[in-house]
Amino acid sequence: MTDTPKRPVPQPGILKIAPYVPGRSDTPAGVKLVKLSANESPLGASPRAIEAVREAAGRIEIYPDGSSRELRVALGEVHGLAPERIVCGFGSDDILHLLAQVYLGEGDEAVMSQYGFNVYPIITRGASAEIIMVPETDYRADVDALLAAVTPRTRILFLANPNNPTGTYLPIAEVERLQRGLRPDILFVLDSAYAEYVTAEDYSEGIDLVNASDNVVMVRTFSKMGIAGERVGWMYGPDHVVDAVNRIRGPFNVSLSGQAAAAAAARDVAFTAKLRDHNARWRSWLTAALQSNAIRVPPSQGNFVLALFEDVATAKAAFAALRDKGLLVREMHGYGIPDALRISIGLEEHMRAVVEILKAFGAPGASN
Ligand SMILES: *Cc1c(COP(=O)(O)O)cnc(C)c1O
Repeated sequence: MTDTPKRPVPQPGILKIAPYVPGRSDTPAGVKLVKLSANESPLGASPRAIEAVREAAGRIEIYPDGSSRELRVALGEVHGLAPERIVCGFGSDDILHLLAQVYLGEGDEAVMSQYGFNVYPIITRGASAEIIMVPETDYRADVDALLAAVTPRTRILFLANPNNPTGTYLPIAEVERLQRGLRPDILFVLDSAYAEYVTAEDYSEGIDLVNASDNVVMVRTFSKMGIAGERVGWMYGPDHVVDAVNRIRGPFNVSLSGQAAAAAAARDVAFTAKLRDHNARWRSWLTAALQSNAIRVPPSQGNFVLALFEDVATAKAAFAALRDKGLLVREMHGYGIPDALRISIGLEEHMRAVVEILKAFGAPGASN
């Protein structure tokens, strides 16, 4: 007979989870904070989304629509999708958790890339499954290595494209090759959180791939597009996945104001374009400026860049120098890249200030 535990015991895997460390938001007293640590919009939210939240404030005594119908209709219109195949969540985090809960259990494995988004290991362990971490090549996901890591126990493969925190992406031909190499019973979770910011012509957010297969789900978020505070994300997938996820999700999992804000933001394609244009311009400017100071930057398609310093001490010193001026960027210890800092693309003056400060932290003699 086994001993009865003396207190409630979490399921296997839960206590192995390293707690998620969000972007810091502390600066020295009296210094104005410029947050470049969480990939938020530097141009605020769509004015239409703000107006929608104001309007929603007059109705908060009622439950929201349980299926986020208006929002799914808006997304369907904007992206050319059937609303029935969309599920909304409180952030794409909600969606990712639900997918892990539905498709992973004890003894199962989830395959993910070495510097992939931090949430995938958390939800895998949260479902009592095992993490299979696959090495990258030059800070980019490696399709052959990912496929080689699949075992009979694999149930999910997670890929963020473009990836956070590296900013690198796989062209659609590579994503398709990855999908073709997976057994049909493995769910391919394609996290296109930064799709709106991509300018590369050989990229696709994955809608055609979802339509052409039975095991691909595309996950999206509004967080990087100006309404992180409202917590809205969504997925587009095959009917059978949508059905399974809908059975388990919270019946009112997206708030009234969140649905209203996201629907307005989705329809405000001019604001989305404005964000994308601002981002593309300052992303290339920041990349070039850092590289000309001998700071390595993997080519980014997101709304941030990863700056790679000579060593951990230089990265730490650069972080502190930026923070002293109120410029808060993201340290990368949690991702196993302690010699790097992730810098969100912000306003022009803040990008110029970052470069000015980082001039002192390049690696002399390094080649880019
Ligand atoms: C920010 C981010 C998300 C989303 O987050 P939510 O705010 O929960 O919608 C998802 N995936 C990646 C890769 C991200 O960087």
